[in-house]
Amino acid sequence: MIIVLKPNVKEERKRQLIDWLKGMNLGVHISNGEFQTVLGLIGDTTQVDIELIDSLDIVDSVKRVTETFKSSNRKFHPEDTVIEVGDVKIGGGNFCLIAGPCSVETEEQIVTVAKAVKAAGANLFRGGAFKPRTSPYDFQGLGARGIELLKIAREETGLPFVTEIMNISDLPLFEDVDVLQVGARNTQNYDLLKELGRIDKPILLKRGLAGTLKELLMSAEYIMSNGNEKVILCERGIRTYSDYMRNTLDISAVPMLHELSHLPVIVDPSHATGMARMVPPMAMAATACGADGIMIEVHNDPIHALCDGAQSMTPEDYTALVKRIKAVREVIA
Ligand code: PEP
Ligand code: MN
Repeated sequence: MIIVLKPNVKEERKRQLIDWLKGMNLGVHISNGEFQTVLGLIGDTTQVDIELIDSLDIVDSVKRVTETFKSSNRKFHPEDTVIEVGDVKIGGGNFCLIAGPCSVETEEQIVTVAKAVKAAGANLFRGGAFKPRTSPYDFQGLGARGIELLKIAREETGLPFVTEIMNISDLPLFEDVDVLQVGARNTQNYDLLKELGRIDKPILLKRGLAGTLKELLMSAEYIMSNGNEKVILCERGIRTYSDYMRNTLDISAVPMLHELSHLPVIVDPSHATGMARMVPPMAMAATACGADGIMIEVHNDPIHALCDGAQSMTPEDYTALVKRIKAVREVIA
């Protein structure tokens, strides 16, 4: 249920209403917008007398929310959420570029790529230390050592970084990580999501391999309902009958997620297509339809990359692409 208050309601009256609602064992999500305050009620609202609330002089309107996702729902929080990572802002008109290799391989590799993507204009860099590989015989990532190398690259560049967490027991290793990624294979690992709801760090949540938008939002809900509201949604392509592409990039997910939710939505065209040459057109399409950021895999030596070399752009090609992405941003502004 959402309660929209009239403009300029006194704090004390607001507080009385909130306390009364909380007294009914309801969670109250408060969204203080520029023009109006919206109270989102979470929990069993069947006992709430909607007419009684509607009759209060401080209440503008009351509506039942039928969607099962609450905290991530735009009805609860009409204004865009802006997530801050150091000086970088994501969402609410703030566009961010994230780039880096699929996996951290060596200090030289990650520092070189982080410097190159910074020079190209990236705001954050990325690199996997714990890798979810389809085959157990493939490179599984450097683990804890990989995170240490990411920190070295952060020192060298000043850019914050994103890296994937696969297992709750690894959480202590992520204490000094800027943004934790939940990969497509773990989007519905609810125990992991609940635990990430208890920390105070941005979570980049990818859409599951064959996940619906509702499932993605319910996964965000697992994080948010446990207290962490800093969730960035990421469309990374879904499994369809597409034959020549690794996945199908669902571009329409961007405006639909923006309609349904206040959370920032970024797009990863690298995992969506699996081919470096397909990344530029998809990155520009994603930018044009209003994505809040683009995450791209970049490697200094794609042919010898230990993971996802075929979809990795060279720093030179990435630099050229950033210019075109920025030009698209200008056009849609
Ligand atoms: C990745 O970002 O390197 C990755 C493994 O992505 P996804 O979970 O989208 O496959
Ligand atoms: Mn990858």
